[in-house]
Amino acid sequence: MRDVVDPARGQVIAAVSDTSLGEVDAGVGRAERAYEKWRLVAPGDRARLLRRFAAVVDAHVEELAALEVRNAGHTIGNARWEAGNVRDVLDYYAGAPERLTGRQIPVPGGLDVTFHEPLGVVGVIVPWNFPMPIAAWGFAPALAAGNTVVLKPAELTPLTALRLAELGREAGLPEGVFTVLPGRGAVVGERFVTHPAVRKICFTGSTEVGTRIMAGCAAQVKRLTLELGGKSANIVFADADLEQAAATAPYAVFDNAGQDCCARSRLLVQRPVYDRFLELLEPAVRALRVEDPARETAEMGPLISAAQRDRVAGYVDGAKTAFTGSCPAGPGFWYAPTVLLADSPADRHWREEVFGPVVSVLPFDDESDAVRLANDTEYGLSGSIWTRDVGRALRVARAVESGNLSVNSHSSVRYWTPFGGMKRSGLGRELGPDALHAFTDVKNVFISTKE
Ligand code: NAD
Repeated sequence: MRDVVDPARGQVIAAVSDTSLGEVDAGVGRAERAYEKWRLVAPGDRARLLRRFAAVVDAHVEELAALEVRNAGHTIGNARWEAGNVRDVLDYYAGAPERLTGRQIPVPGGLDVTFHEPLGVVGVIVPWNFPMPIAAWGFAPALAAGNTVVLKPAELTPLTALRLAELGREAGLPEGVFTVLPGRGAVVGERFVTHPAVRKICFTGSTEVGTRIMAGCAAQVKRLTLELGGKSANIVFADADLEQAAATAPYAVFDNAGQDCCARSRLLVQRPVYDRFLELLEPAVRALRVEDPARETAEMGPLISAAQRDRVAGYVDGAKTAFTGSCPAGPGFWYAPTVLLADSPADRHWREEVFGPVVSVLPFDDESDAVRLANDTEYGLSGSIWTRDVGRALRVARAVESGNLSVNSHSSVRYWTPFGGMKRSGLGRELGPDALHAFTDVKNVFISTKE
């Protein structure tokens, strides 16, 4: 049994059994058998089941949100959004089964058609930072395309995924279509990678584990989607709406206590407005409400674990702190929002993913300097550009090597549009219409019309 801890209080709230290797194989076997029927379910019936699943999730948004507050320390406002996102993503992909069409291609001597065939059993591996949405971004399009799913939640945060599997059954998903198998990455996750019946891995997590999984998948040429780490830039030009940029910058990095792959953890400010911007940022950071995440007013909760808090503190120790916000003393794994001044782009806190409520600030001179600094990282997931010059906004957006950029906004994820990373931030895209094709293989069939 593994203890599940409430990070706001440091108290054990549940115990969950780790899935053994034999149980993983049995779960994959059930998913394999379920696939033989699920792939043949009429598209309209599959769509109806997914819509029903969305409706059942909708009826349990408050319950799921409250569970996530306790298990992951997310603020109640964020947790409600996350449960609602599961419902929306299910609803969105429920439209897919009836629209997943192939093509008829003109060829001589016959009729040529393509089909988008499901892959089989898909293994979804989820991190602890957004347990619900990241699970849904994998299982919803996979199920819509006709696959069955085995899903492994993170060791620290299994509760909402287990509840979602129960809600799926309640909505009428047949046995084996969507199975949650909690447990260790090195046991359950690795078995997904090596099991020949698992035809695709949909992994979100650290770049370190992602590269191992990629190497493991190579042996079987297993399909793979990777959503990995980030070190995204928030670029503020001198002509920007500074008040707006400074008022929103804390949410761009301290949301979810900075445990967000899209966190804009590198703040680049054009030199003429550098001092003014920090003056505006300081009260916004100090005003951030870091408190019991169950309170409706909470804007930031605790970190996920004591180990994560100590890791974050290791980046701040010895660095130049500009100012900090406040946080409860404990119990629980609290860390105050912290703004660091980088001496140079070589600083460790500027280069590495801290995954906590820490932002590093550096001035830049001009457009090319901003792009050079933004791209001087192994990552390429997200980022923001603040300027009133639309030409510059587009030039910079095209030049920054990131999968998701927003102009005069910090929005990263919208389920209608593709999400994913460049460089070592990932491979492939989730969400949007194209993600569906990542859960299918194209089959081409030629029918001769020769007499
Ligand atoms: P992690 O890589 O340690 O773990 C992620 C998942 O992989 C967990 O379920 C874990 O049990 C499993 N795992 C661990 N070792 C494994 C192995 N050898 N084989 C198979 N599975 C294994 O990541 P984490 O600490 O849970 O999450 C934080 C990381 O996730 C950060 O780097 C963050 O940037 C990244 N992340 C990326 C995105 C994105 O969309 N790009 C989103 C959220 C988080």
